[in-house]
Amino acid sequence: MTTPTQPDPKREIWFLTGSQGLYGEDTLRQVAHQSQRTAERLDAAAEIALPIVWKPVLTDAESIRRVCQEASATDDCAGVIIWMHTFSPAKMWIAGLSALDRPVLHLHTQYNLSLPWTSIDMEFMNLNQAAHGDREFAHIESRLGVVRKIVAGHATEPRVVNRVASWSRAAAGAHAARTLRLARFGDNMRDVAVTEGDKVEAQLRFGFSVNTYGVNDLVAAVDAVEDKTITELAAVYVDEYDIHPALRPDGIRHDSLRYAARLELGLRAFLGEGGFTAFTTNFEDLGGLRQLPGIAVQRLMADGYGFGGEGDWKTSALLRTMKVMGAGLPGGTSFMEDYTYHLGPGEPRILGAHMLEVCPSIAADRPSCEIHPLSIGGREDPVRLVFDAAPGPAVVVGLSDLGDRFRLTANTVEVVPAPQPLRRLPVARAVWKPYPSLAESAESWLLAGAPHHTVLSSAVGVDTLTDFAAMTGVELLTIDENTTTEQFTKEIRWNAAYHRLSQAL
Ligand code: MN
Repeated sequence: MTTPTQPDPKREIWFLTGSQGLYGEDTLRQVAHQSQRTAERLDAAAEIALPIVWKPVLTDAESIRRVCQEASATDDCAGVIIWMHTFSPAKMWIAGLSALDRPVLHLHTQYNLSLPWTSIDMEFMNLNQAAHGDREFAHIESRLGVVRKIVAGHATEPRVVNRVASWSRAAAGAHAARTLRLARFGDNMRDVAVTEGDKVEAQLRFGFSVNTYGVNDLVAAVDAVEDKTITELAAVYVDEYDIHPALRPDGIRHDSLRYAARLELGLRAFLGEGGFTAFTTNFEDLGGLRQLPGIAVQRLMADGYGFGGEGDWKTSALLRTMKVMGAGLPGGTSFMEDYTYHLGPGEPRILGAHMLEVCPSIAADRPSCEIHPLSIGGREDPVRLVFDAAPGPAVVVGLSDLGDRFRLTANTVEVVPAPQPLRRLPVARAVWKPYPSLAESAESWLLAGAPHHTVLSSAVGVDTLTDFAAMTGVELLTIDENTTTEQFTKEIRWNAAYHRLSQAL
């Protein structure tokens, strides 16, 4: 289980209830009571990670506009749930919805689960009229082009709770992305296309800012680390992992472990001082660093930081965003790379890894801390954590820049145990079977032009990614058990037309 410990202030979801003055005070008191109880029910649901904060019932255009502006101006507010308990003439919502700059979930519900068939009267009808109040509201949402998730059903239904939960996680992720600051040490790896992209467009679309630093800025932070803190962190390594004997305090390579600890402390200091929650490195551009950061990056990811190798800021920002979405959930989330295939015999599988940087939040067992040569980069041998990923369902997600827009591509997968122990592979890794099959998954992934760097998550589901894509207005292509290459090809064509038409001229 992983929970980002990196500071991300607690976000909340506001619960707005629409009505009008026409009904009189008695009815409005009941509307207030019942909407408050509905908000409390959702707030109490363990599946919904963010607090649901009820706001007083809205009965006129001015209070609607004010609360929408307030929600947009409040840093803690990650999204807004809106419900028309009674009828709320929707022209009153035009100014408010136009000013609202937060993801919207339109909750189409009713306080009463059942109709009191034998005693129902006009009073009951007037009090419980979301059935047409929400239709009126949905009309103006459509008219204004408000992107929203609609969830219909009673607040006690698991389906309703789960849909709200998934959306609220997406809202928390989108909120984190809006304020995310990313530090790049060096540029992209030379000549690589897919790790490039439009950083201005990324800031417009997602909100995150990408800032490049010369790697020697990091070297200065690394050099400034005090010996005493290095000794303490090296002891943590020895304590938390199965440590390679040579790396122990009495071992001949303990100095390498100490340098790895120095790297972690230097990185933490640099990122902390700058308010960064994501970063990239580049093994071609290490300046005065003696090792490529391995265990340091791995432990920072486990604490909720985003990371991308070879200057890949898109994957780094996506990882941080998904860490926030998955906070507190079972499973883990890691930087990943499709590396090599088992095409047969037996079921085809993908072996994913990276040079060093896989997050221990996805580990099946206690990682071992090892030192081995790196075949590229020409530096000292880096210290790294080695482990197998825990089996189970997961999703692999990539973010690519198509030139005129961004594209998210997601593939549902099943992480499986390696059929044999991978004794000679000195890096952390995951083995998975992609859905619907390796052949159709790979054909679709390649047709999408999706990247080789990805985020693998066993915590965040496709439903949350779907909500996130809708909130940010980014295309999401999903490859799952229902995908055929043929249908996927058509979807890409239709999407291209839609996304070009939906762009402002
Ligand atoms: Mn790579």
